[in-house]
Amino acid sequence: MPPLGPALARIKRDRIKAVSLEGGGEPSVRPDLLATAAKLRAAGVEHIMLSTNGVALADMELCREAAAAIDQFTVNFPSHLPEVYAAATRSVKYPQAVRGLRNLLDLGVRERLRVFHIISSFNFRALPGFAAWAAENLRGAGLVNLTFVRNAGRARGEDGIVPSYSEAAPFIKLALARLKLAGFKAVVQNFPLCMLKGFEGFSFEFQRWSRGDAVFEEGVASAADCAACAACALAPACFGYRTDYGEIRGFADLKASRIRPSSIKPERF
Ligand code: SF4
Repeated sequence: MPPLGPALARIKRDRIKAVSLEGGGEPSVRPDLLATAAKLRAAGVEHIMLSTNGVALADMELCREAAAAIDQFTVNFPSHLPEVYAAATRSVKYPQAVRGLRNLLDLGVRERLRVFHIISSFNFRALPGFAAWAAENLRGAGLVNLTFVRNAGRARGEDGIVPSYSEAAPFIKLALARLKLAGFKAVVQNFPLCMLKGFEGFSFEFQRWSRGDAVFEEGVASAADCAACAACALAPACFGYRTDYGEIRGFADLKASRIRPSSIKPERF
């Protein structure tokens, strides 16, 4: 997390009401996590979010205090399989991550819990299994977000970390169907609509479009130009072509569609 002093000054000056604790390393291991939340409240912040790997929340006392101080938890959890978790995170803290998730649910952090599952070459074939595991172990969580990995940041240039859209799509669809059947709100993010035939209503970007919001969250670049997208009726509501993906996978799997976004029914979100 960036230094707090300048952030607090800006929060007060601009009357910022929502803040996400994230970046600069894992925020939940900072000894001043709870003090930071208290200072944010005192500065007028009404909604505090924590983006975490959940590992530190295996400590029930810390988890209890965090649950009382923080409004929303986004837990990044890339696999229900210990060996895949270890490969994706380079961490052996799978048991603690699972314990952290369970502690949050046991403490009643249910609707306030969002589980982020980054889809990569490590785990895409296990997505339906993850959905079945979630139905057993994450019941009550507010949202499961399947986010397709970007060829950017730490992942950029790493050989083989980004699967092709075509190979990942069948597993994503099966996982979304299982999550829906288990009663979860579920979305898939950073994934083109033409790869989600029959499941377009789960698309995070489509959901934003259908609510009248900008399709891309703040900080996410607009789609790049490509011939298929230029001829596609779904383009206004779609994640679209990404240069970082095209650099390693090309864009032959993108197909222009004649479906109007307004004809698609959004799933629960
Ligand atoms: S062709 Fe482009 S705009 Fe159309 S659905 Fe596919 S990625 Fe989206």
